[in-house]
Amino acid sequence: MGRITLDKVRKAFGDIEVIPPLDLTIEDGEFVVFVGPSGCGKSTLLRLIAGLEDVSGGQIRIDREDATNLPPAKRGLAMVFQSYALYPHMSVRKNIAFPMKMAGLPQDEQERRIEGAAKALNLTDYLDRKPGQLSGGQRQRVAIGRAIVREPAAFLFDEPLSNLDAALRVGMRLEISELHKRLATTMVYVTHDQVEAMTMADKIVVLRAGNIEQVGSPLELYNRPRNVFVAGFIGSPK
Ligand code: ADP
Ligand code: MG
Repeated sequence: MGRITLDKVRKAFGDIEVIPPLDLTIEDGEFVVFVGPSGCGKSTLLRLIAGLEDVSGGQIRIDREDATNLPPAKRGLAMVFQSYALYPHMSVRKNIAFPMKMAGLPQDEQERRIEGAAKALNLTDYLDRKPGQLSGGQRQRVAIGRAIVREPAAFLFDEPLSNLDAALRVGMRLEISELHKRLATTMVYVTHDQVEAMTMADKIVVLRAGNIEQVGSPLELYNRPRNVFVAGFIGSPK
């Protein structure tokens, strides 16, 4: 299960409050997109959920558990970064297996999950290659594969497609949406790209300077933007 609840979560770096106290519920199985201009706090919010940053106040719950002070590895979430962070000297198979090896999963279970992820991501023919022998899109798939095998309660994506060219981006967008349908797992996806937000999200969270300006479905935001900022960002006439 992957229900994530933020209760008055805030974050300051020194004297600068980047995220003022914020409430948000992400339902199990939802595809939620955080969108907003550069520097508005999208990555910080995602990193707070992941446990890569400590909150300055408030509570984070994952399902019924208070996860506020849990280390990242104990939260049951998987983060996919924009820089692929693959091990260049390891094969695709070994890259995907790495988190399972760390967790001490039995070999046959590792094999089963690698086969499943490879199939879901069209990587079956590439398992013995090194990352250097792959295209940008394939490398991004390997990074997603490494997240899938952990069978996380939720996937956290931070601008995963920003290093890809425009044509590839469209294809990967569809692939991630398909994956979400197939796995029915919660996905939290950060982007500054309105088109990605509008085409992929069940629910969009529009951020400005760490504040939530509006939360709603793509259609709701398009038809009823709460203010000019949201309207401008979503591209609807207000
Ligand atoms: P976004 O992902 O929306 O571009 P970020 O979450 O990366 O925005 O950053 C939000 C704000 O927090 C920015 O003003 C950024 O400079 C600041 N910030 C992010 N991380 C740190 C940090 N480790 N120390 C100090 N300031 C930070
Ligand atoms: Mg960012």
